[in-house]
Amino acid sequence: APATIDLREYIRNIPDFPKPGIQFKDITPLLASPEAFRSAIEQLAAHFRGRGVEVIAAAEARGFIFGAPLAMQMGAGFVPIRKPGKLPYATIAQEYQLEYGSDRLEVHSDALGRGRRVLLLDDVLATGGTMKACIDLVHSAGAELVACAFVIELSFLEGRARLTPPEVFSLITY
Ligand code: 5GP
Repeated sequence: APATIDLREYIRNIPDFPKPGIQFKDITPLLASPEAFRSAIEQLAAHFRGRGVEVIAAAEARGFIFGAPLAMQMGAGFVPIRKPGKLPYATIAQEYQLEYGSDRLEVHSDALGRGRRVLLLDDVLATGGTMKACIDLVHSAGAELVACAFVIELSFLEGRARLTPPEVFSLITY
């Protein structure tokens, strides 16, 4: 069996990015390591195996990086959630608040069909605003949310308290 990998060793802290006072968790060392990247995807797949997940949905850009290989590993489809104006077909949209102002996420109106079992995924859970918007999109589409999954959860920001899915799961918690 392969040696156990400590994913934390592949997360780099970047002080004062993108703004003074913010400690950014840089996931690029994890992506650059075949063993760590594979381990992250396999751990997520193992946790959700047997739960009837039909679709992985993830927001650009870093959610895509983990979402596509997880979909492959689980035998699920992949649905992209995008910034405004990027998707070519009819969309449903959800506004969400940022620290300054608001932003909007969109998904194709036929991508998350009624009753489809959806797993939402992102690299990092910070304040929870992004994932809350994704949850609202899943509910608007009438799909069934299985869980929200993250590679990293910044628990001191209490984003989890803003989310109300059946389950919130993270591989690494700070
Ligand atoms: P939230 O909406 O929970 O405040 O922020 C989460 C979103 O911002 C995620 O889509 C995530 O990609 C990005 N994000 C926030 N903080 C970090 C961080 O420290 N590292 C990385 N890689 N992404 C972050």
